[in-house]
Amino acid sequence: MTDTALATSLSFPVEASTDPVTDSDRAAILADPGFGRHFSDHMAVATWTLDEGWHDDRIQPYGPITLDPAAAVLHYAQEIFEGLKAYRHADGSVWSFRPEQNAARMNRSARRLALPELPDGAFLQSLRQLVSTDQAWVPGLEESSLYLRPFMIASEKFLGVRPAHEVTYYVISSPVGPYFASGPAPVDIWLSRDYTRAAPGGTGAAKCGGNYAASLAAQQQATANGCAQVCFLDATEGRWVEELGGMNLFFVHADGTIVTPQLSGTILEGITRASVLTLAAESGHEVVERRVSIDEWAEGAASGAITEVFACGTAAVITPLGTLRDGDATITMGDGETAGEVTMALRQALVDIQYGRADDPHGWMTRLA
Ligand SMILES: *Cc1c(COP(=O)(O)O)cnc(C)c1O
Repeated sequence: MTDTALATSLSFPVEASTDPVTDSDRAAILADPGFGRHFSDHMAVATWTLDEGWHDDRIQPYGPITLDPAAAVLHYAQEIFEGLKAYRHADGSVWSFRPEQNAARMNRSARRLALPELPDGAFLQSLRQLVSTDQAWVPGLEESSLYLRPFMIASEKFLGVRPAHEVTYYVISSPVGPYFASGPAPVDIWLSRDYTRAAPGGTGAAKCGGNYAASLAAQQQATANGCAQVCFLDATEGRWVEELGGMNLFFVHADGTIVTPQLSGTILEGITRASVLTLAAESGHEVVERRVSIDEWAEGAASGAITEVFACGTAAVITPLGTLRDGDATITMGDGETAGEVTMALRQALVDIQYGRADDPHGWMTRLA
């Protein structure tokens, strides 16, 4: 039997928790969930071995996992992850946004990290089973959601360097509130001249923990300089704008054109990015994927040729940029304090689809519960 044949039978049967969080404790958490601090009562798990393929799939009570200290992931970081959200609609139903794109991307990441692919149907089934089991954890408040975090780790006990023969897949979920308490406020960004995120031929296009580990020293510099996030340049010339540590970038030009750095193998292909490209084109903007130099950004912001810059990703949706700090120099977008009109209109169009307040002509929403 092939891996795929085994995996199509993954149903993630539910072993319910005997000790779930009480209704009143959960209500208190959902009233102010923050981000990534609280987790629902259950998690999805499946195991893959070289001999048996995917098996032992289930939904089980959320809790600590046991790993051998020699598990390969702890030493060689053979790990990938995904991030998507479950949104509650007005009628109480629960939906996710383009989850098949997350399934496809997880498998592209798996190939790059020499991990086994998980069939798309099994990925979706794990989300459906977890979210329907824990649907009480999906907040109903404005701009709140249940963040879903699928991930895959090399769990084999072996210190030799080769792709692991035993791998474990999990999905955990965490209720999240609005990213910005009082609506999206422009953020200040640090331009990293000392560090790069991804080199040609590296893992920049894969969603793997290693990329994030490598970005943390730059993040420390950003924080020390009063900035919220880091912007990375290309690793070869140090000239081309790539993305933030976990979000893609867009530039709104005075003539209405919207530009985003082209995918080059070192940029993570965001699902929000792809969706913004579609929505911007539909609302009459010319959209262009091409290289953007840091000089074009600095000069365009100064001259007014670039009117708005925003970052996008699942967690914060669309975030306006206020300033970009390049050492002692500061590039200011607009007045540096007001979210741009185009940015906010695109953000609204996207969240209206996600929360079921607008039509979904592309069939982007998939019902989970
Ligand atoms: C996940 C991620 C993004 C955003 O992708 P979405 O699918 O839009 O959430 C952008 N850049 C990096 C490095 C990422 O890991």
